[in-house]
Amino acid sequence: MPAQLLDGTPIAEKIKSELLPKIKELTAKGATPHLVALYVGENAGSKIYMNKQKSDCEEVGIKYSQHGLPETATEQELIKALTDLNNNPDITGIILQMPLPQHISMRNVRLNIAPAKDVEGITPRNLGMLVMSDYKLAPCTAVGAFELLKSLKPSLKHLDVTIVGHSEIVGKPLMLLMLSSMMESATPTVCHIGTKDLAFHTKRADVLFVAAGKAGLIKGSMIKPGAIVIDIGINRVPVLDENGKPVLNEKGKPKTKVTGDVVFEEAKEVCSYITPVPGGVGPLTVAMLLKNTVECTKLQKNL
Ligand code: NAD
Repeated sequence: MPAQLLDGTPIAEKIKSELLPKIKELTAKGATPHLVALYVGENAGSKIYMNKQKSDCEEVGIKYSQHGLPETATEQELIKALTDLNNNPDITGIILQMPLPQHISMRNVRLNIAPAKDVEGITPRNLGMLVMSDYKLAPCTAVGAFELLKSLKPSLKHLDVTIVGHSEIVGKPLMLLMLSSMMESATPTVCHIGTKDLAFHTKRADVLFVAAGKAGLIKGSMIKPGAIVIDIGINRVPVLDENGKPVLNEKGKPKTKVTGDVVFEEAKEVCSYITPVPGGVGPLTVAMLLKNTVECTKLQKNL
């Protein structure tokens, strides 16, 4: 029987609707959450992403603003701008927009985000609290994917989970979330580019998370029958016609579409649940960004 779709939208909508009264209450106390996106230079992709952040924030009553520096800004200038935002009591959350220019170290800058304004959950303090299973601010995509799984499996006890991808913002925090309960944790295996036999690990997983950013990486034959498959990858690939040739748009350029890392048509014949891309983890990432922004406001205002 083909798999059921694990749709992230209704779960994300529920999280957002639960935030509404909390945001109203904070606003009534003069503590409206205020998220600022800090960016350097002009980047078309990140502009689109920031516009989306703005509409998502405004939809739930979170104030949103952008603070841009020129492409030529130095690392010190960016850290100074970040420090000013850290010290500004009107700003309750900061998102450091990617990409940064080559001459700036993302890692150095991230280290300077005030942990209580770290809506992405990426500072050493917040990641450290996740290690201690005592977190308030976890990386949005990882915790979003975790919530999707919890919607099907409230207890992860005895589940063999394979995570493909070990980045600091997705794979590693997801592994920690799999281990965050004293008695109900799953048993995670984390694979990466250096893993010897990827299929060996994916084939024995009751739950398979994939976050590699490689379209077509996971074939149907690599999935355990009945597994839950959560595809986090986002890839832009050409649309092909029935002869395998690229389809062109009205401007004569190759048409593209968004896909995940899993070969969806094959996987759905094998697994029990599978997330669509887009529409699976993506909406949860947004919902978690909003939730973290509210949490940051509560932390700063001691509410
Ligand atoms: P990253 O590039 O930082 O990490 C990729 C990881 O995949 C690395 O650990 C690498 O070792 C592993 N990998 C790459 N090729 C592999 C292979 N052939 N076999 C096994 N492992 C392999 O990426 P990231 O920031 O963690 O993002 C991963 C994917 O998730 C990307 O497609 C990204 O666009 C997507 N993403 C989606 C959301 C969302 O909201 N849905 C949010 C963030 C990232």
